[in-house]
Amino acid sequence: LNTPNDLAPFWMPFTANRQFKSNPRLFVKAEGMHYTTSDNRQVLDGTAGLWCVNAGHAQPKIVEAIQQQAQELDYAPAFQMGHPKAFELAARLVAMIPGDLDHVFFTNSGSESVDTALKIALAYHRAKGDASRTRLIGRERGYHGVGFGGISVGGIVNNRRFFGSLLAGVDHMRHTHDPARNAFSRGQPEHGAELADDLERIVALHGAETIAAVIVEPMAGSTGVLMPPKGYLERLRAICDKYGILLIFDEVITGFGRLGSPFAVDHFGVMPDIVTTAKGVSNGAVPMGAVFVRKGIYDAFMNGPENAIELFHGYTYSAHPLACAAALATLDVYREQDLFQRCADLAPYFEDAVHSLKDLPHVIDVRNMGLVAGIELEARPGAPTARAFEAFLKCYDKGVLIRTTGDIIALSPPLIVDKAQIDTIVGTIADVLKDIA
Ligand code: PMP
Repeated sequence: LNTPNDLAPFWMPFTANRQFKSNPRLFVKAEGMHYTTSDNRQVLDGTAGLWCVNAGHAQPKIVEAIQQQAQELDYAPAFQMGHPKAFELAARLVAMIPGDLDHVFFTNSGSESVDTALKIALAYHRAKGDASRTRLIGRERGYHGVGFGGISVGGIVNNRRFFGSLLAGVDHMRHTHDPARNAFSRGQPEHGAELADDLERIVALHGAETIAAVIVEPMAGSTGVLMPPKGYLERLRAICDKYGILLIFDEVITGFGRLGSPFAVDHFGVMPDIVTTAKGVSNGAVPMGAVFVRKGIYDAFMNGPENAIELFHGYTYSAHPLACAAALATLDVYREQDLFQRCADLAPYFEDAVHSLKDLPHVIDVRNMGLVAGIELEARPGAPTARAFEAFLKCYDKGVLIRTTGDIIALSPPLIVDKAQIDTIVGTIADVLKDIA
C-alpha cells in the first residue's frame, strides 16, 4: 500500500478528496521546520501543522518525554485518581495565565475544550440559582471546532445546516471583518470596535437574564485570520460585565505564543471568565486541551448546585499521562528557548515580509499579528477552485506548506522559524501569485 489509489478506499483527507487522488500529499517524517514527503521531498512548514506545532516538529525534549512516559506509566484514570504530572501541569499552566483563572480542566482537543467551556458556563449560572441563563452567543465567522457545541456557537453556516437545530437558544453576533475600512492594517485594525454593540442588540432581543455566555476567538484564525479592531474586546467585556454574562475566549490557536505572548489575554489585556486551549499546549505531539476557569466557576461545575444531582463531566483521556508529559516538556521548551519572546521579536520582520505582498496580483488585504498572517485574494466567482487553493498547490510543489480557507491564505509558522525561512515562505507565495490567473 503506497499509492493514494491503494489507500483511498479506507480513509480520505477531510477536504479536496478528488484533488488528493490525483495529487497525493503524504507526509512520512517531520523534523524542526520541515516535513518529508513520501516521494522524499522536504516541505517547509508555514503553518505549524494545523497551528499547533509551535516548538517545531519532533522536538527532541518532547519526544524523549513521551517515550519515557510511555514506559513508566502509560495510562491512569482521571476519576477519583490521578498521577503526579497532571497536578504539576495544572499548577504550571495556572501560573502562566494572567488574572484569577486558577483552575484547569483537561480535555483532548479544541472541540472538547469548547464543549466543556459551554457546559461550565451553563452549570455556573444554574449553581448560582440563575437557571434561566441558558443562551449562548457566538459570532459569525467564529470557529470553535466540530462538536455539537462548537458548531452551534460557531459562525460557519455550512458546518451546522445539515444537523438540525443543534443547541437551543444560540445566537450569533456580527463578525468584525471590515476590509473596506481596514485593508492592509497591521496588528489591530483601527475601525470596528462598535461592532461589539451587536451584543447589545442580542441582549435586547432575548433579555440579559436568559444569556449565559458569549464565546469568541480573540483573534479568529480558521476563518481567515481576522484581527479584533482596537477596543472591540474591551467593549465586549464591558457589555458582559454590565449584564452578568460570562465571557469565553477560545484561545485554541492564540494560546501558547502565537501572538508573541503566552495567551491572547496577555496580548490584548482583556480578561475573560473562561479560556479554552488545545494545540500548542502539547505542541501537537499528543492530543490535549485545557480549559482555564476561576475557582468559583470550577466548583459550581464540579460540585453542581446545592441539593442538585452531582454533575459529571470528564473524559477517559483527560490528563492522559502521555499528553501531560508532552505538555510539561513543551512548556520547558517554550521557556528554555524563550519562544514567545522570539515570536514577539520576529513579528516586525514577519509583518514587513507579508506586507511586501501588498502589490502583487489579486492581493486585496494582508493582516498580521505575532507570527500569524492572513493574505486575502480577490474572489474568482464561478472558477472551480479559489485562487488561494491554487496558491497552496503551487507552493506545495515548490516545497512550502501554507494553509487556505476560501480566498484567504493563512500563515502560522512554528515559532522556531528564522528570517531566511520567513523569506522563503513569503517569496514562494509571491512567485506563485504571479502565475495565477
Ligand atoms: N477552537 C478554535 C479557535 C480552533 O481554531 C480550533 C481548531 N482549529 C478548534 C476550536 C477545534 O480544535 P480541534 O480541531 O482540536 O477540535
